[in-house]
Amino acid sequence: MADAINIAEWELAWRAGTVRQLPRGCLLDLSVGLRQAGQPASVTVSVTPLEFAESVWCQSDDCPVCGRRTAGLLRTKVSLDVQWADGFGCFVGAWAHDDCLAECPVIGPAKHMPW
Ligand SMILES: [Zn+2]
Repeated sequence: MADAINIAEWELAWRAGTVRQLPRGCLLDLSVGLRQAGQPASVTVSVTPLEFAESVWCQSDDCPVCGRRTAGLLRTKVSLDVQWADGFGCFVGAWAHDDCLAECPVIGPAKHMPW
């Protein structure tokens, strides 16, 4: 069994990261498993801090940047920060191709915490 996450350590690692924009929007189908219907108002992507990557569950192998499968390719565990117009938001774990992630412009420091 994995050790419980140390919240303070997670927050430090998270805040050291950055938020990136998805150049073509999020190509994952986020309607699966989420209570909210309709397209989210905003989806940004952050690299999940390596030491916590094991704790983030990914719904699928598909890359949110290009929509193709990542299995067997160079990829990075990311967290999608999904926000809807009515104020509901959540985090979704995903795998992004390393090449795709490099295409996503950094838009600022990490803001929302993934819980
Ligand atoms: Zn990709």
